[in-house]
Parts: sequence; structure tokens; C-alpha cells
Amino acid sequence: MAKLHEELIQVNNLKKYFRISRKSVLKAVDDVSFSIKKGETLGLVGESGCGKSTCGRTVVGLYDATGGSVLYEGKDVHRLKKDEKLQFKKNAQYIFQDPYASLDPRMTIGDIIGEGMDVHQMHSNEKERTARIHELLELVGLNPEHAVRYPHELSGGQRQRVGIARALAVEPEFIVCDEPISALDVSIQAQIVNLLIELQENLDLTYLFISHDLSMVKHISNRVAVMYLGVIVELASSEELYKNALHPYTKALMSAIPVPDPDVESSRERIILPGDVPSPINPPPGCKFQGRCKYAMPICKEKTPELVDQGDGHFVSCYLHNK
Ligand code: SF4
Repeated sequence: MAKLHEELIQVNNLKKYFRISRKSVLKAVDDVSFSIKKGETLGLVGESGCGKSTCGRTVVGLYDATGGSVLYEGKDVHRLKKDEKLQFKKNAQYIFQDPYASLDPRMTIGDIIGEGMDVHQMHSNEKERTARIHELLELVGLNPEHAVRYPHELSGGQRQRVGIARALAVEPEFIVCDEPISALDVSIQAQIVNLLIELQENLDLTYLFISHDLSMVKHISNRVAVMYLGVIVELASSEELYKNALHPYTKALMSAIPVPDPDVESSRERIILPGDVPSPINPPPGCKFQGRCKYAMPICKEKTPELVDQGDGHFVSCYLHNK
């Protein structure tokens, strides 16, 4: 892992609500705070619909924030001046979940990769542009010949490599990787994750790595934040979280990870949560997990527990720990 430096991103009490009708509002991200250091990978995990992708999109300014702030090198990304906004768009890139849907089928791979370079005027002539596209293709494990192909001619893994090359083309510092492997075959997933790790080390990148796959998140992340129904319920270093999960929801997620050792696997106790994730349009009061938690107490239904540091940067929001 790269050496960590000062904070690059600070997310403070971020909220992103969507108005569904005159009377209802979907609270996709509801008061979320975290920071990411330069060179760090922060994993953001949770079941689908917990708000992690909305959070990632709001962090890079693809969505406006309903409340709170996202500071990038100290500046609020939702209040930038025009020239600052263009620079931020270059510095902060997004790799999408579905590489096929995110690539224009009518454009060649070369033009897909070169598009951002054109916007930010990163080359002085066509020869330089082509050379850079070829260099980027090789950087992500493809061949220069792929530049003249179209997305439908490539495999899923190759398309995700193009998505990565497109993000790298504008020489960013920070990349949100939004479920970058979940649409791929299992055999290809590790290759893409290893490529992202290698690129981070060589190019000094900072990642927000969004996934529902806890084992993959552990592999790539320095720290991991667990999201449930629009809030972060636990945040700790990757090692600490996987050794010593504190929140009942995190423990349930952990219990679902298969263990490679067959003896340990056969005795693994799976925690099955009752019910489904409630709707973010009408979330329960107090702790959002209270309807599915076997430890729920009266206070859990009245007051939202705060995310409190239990020591060494292991934060949890649960009254079992926040006395
Ligand atoms: Fe369960 Fe209460 Fe902790 Fe929420 S705060 S996870 S309901 S014990």
C-alpha cells in the first residue's frame, strides 16, 4: 500500500435527498462524515440500496449535496468557481460499475479514452494524443491495437480496463471506484483489483472503493466504512474491522463471508438478519438498524446513536458500545 499523507478529502455531515413526490423524500445519504488521506483507499461497503453509490457520486460532484459539505484540499467541491470546477473534474474521476453501459457504443476505444484529454487540452497534436492513448492502453494491460476497436468487440474485463484507462487519461489524484468488479466474472475480478492496487502504488492515487463484496474490500482498503440505510454505522482500519467488528450489522455482514479453510468454513456461524432493509423514504426513528437488531433497547428507537471513536480510529454508532 502507498504511504499515507495528509487528508485529501473531508466529508462533513453530507446529505443527499431525492424528492419522490410532494409528500415523500428519499434520504439516500443522511448525515455522513469521513475523510480520506492522500494515497489511501477507503472502502465503502453495504447492501445494495444503502446509499453508497449516491454518496460516491455526491463526493465527486456528480450530484449536488442536499446538506453538509465535501472538502477537496480544503475547498467545498459543491461551491467551486468555474475554473476550479474544471480542475476538480480532472482531479477526481469515477469508474462505473457496468463497464458496458458506461462506454459509448458508437465511439472507438481510442476516442473514449481521448475524450477527457481533449476537454482538458492535454495534448498539442494528434500524434501526441495517439501516443498517450496507446500508453494508457498498455498501462491497463491492453494493446495499442485496441484503440481502433469498439466496446462490443471487447470482453467485460477488457471494457473495465478501458473504463480505468479513461479515468487515468486526465491524470487524476482521486478515483471513486463504484463496484468496479461486480459485473465481472469471478476469475477476472481479482485481476482488476490487482491492477487498481498496482496503479495506485505507481501513480500515487487515492481511492474511494465502493462494494458490497467485503472480502474484496478488505484486500484493497486501508480503512473500511460500513453503510446501512444512508448512514455509516462503523468505520475502522481494514484489519481491525475484520478482526473485531462491533456493530451488529457489520457482524452479520462478516458472518456471510466464506472462509477458505474447510474446517473453519463448516463451523462458521451465519447471522441471519430478520426482515428486509426498510425503505429510505420512511426510515425508522432512532437507530436505523433497530427493526432488525436482536439487541435493540428502548433508547435505540428514540435517539440516533452517534458515530463514536472507541479508540485507535475504530468508530461505531451503537448504544451497546456508546455508553
Ligand atoms: Fe442495535 Fe441499538 Fe445498537 Fe442499533 S443502537 S445496532 S438497535 S443495539
